[in-house]
Amino acid sequence: MPVNKEAYLKLRSTLDQQGVTLVAVSKTKPVADIQELYEMGQRDFGENYVQELVDKQAKLPPDIRWHFIGHLQSNKVKYIAPFVHLIHGVDSYKLLGEIDRQAAKNNRTIACLLQVHIAEEESKFGFDEPGIRQVVANIKAEHQEGRLSHVRVQGLMGMASFTDREEQLHREFNQLKKIYDEQDYFQVLSMGMSGDYAIAVSEGSNMVRIGSLLFGARSSSSSKQVQ
Ligand SMILES: *Cc1c(COP(=O)(O)O)cnc(C)c1O
Repeated sequence: MPVNKEAYLKLRSTLDQQGVTLVAVSKTKPVADIQELYEMGQRDFGENYVQELVDKQAKLPPDIRWHFIGHLQSNKVKYIAPFVHLIHGVDSYKLLGEIDRQAAKNNRTIACLLQVHIAEEESKFGFDEPGIRQVVANIKAEHQEGRLSHVRVQGLMGMASFTDREEQLHREFNQLKKIYDEQDYFQVLSMGMSGDYAIAVSEGSNMVRIGSLLFGARSSSSSKQVQ
């Protein structure tokens, strides 16, 4: 399926006006599709699988900002640490420590988002609200001691339930926005996908992750976060 250029231009102008960053989610899609959007000016791309990201990064222009949006295993951080722009799905303190170690090895500071569990479904990863408070307190304390100096936790990321009940989507995104606002520490709130981005933006998202609307549908097995 070709890249939907018309949808891209429309989305881009709407989101630009609202100050929302568009991450084009290119997982499972060929390098040629990414190149096509790149030529239209897109620079932020999102991938969920480490090997796929590493392969694509090597083949595409170096000024692409690569977002890792999948579930990241600690033992794979080293493969993306040299170049990744933003890791969205940090869901444990241990993972943050490993990102810090690998960033230090590469003389970099890696920006991260903490994943918050807002959906009804049990299978999705992330911290709950008290977990976020705890982890932010820990990070602040570590930073004061000069530790974790190679990670910068910029904000939060969440995925709403897989539903078309708008009321529920509003409620879940609103819950995440409240957790985000409570901290006075964050700048990036990554929420919203092809099916629910308008609701997410209306609830205060400033970064959306959009795949199928731009690149066409994927096979169903790859459309969810899987390990
Ligand atoms: C696949 C994926 C997206 C994009 O989903 P679409 O519905 O295709 O827009 C966004 N965020 C995450 C975490 C994903 O895994």
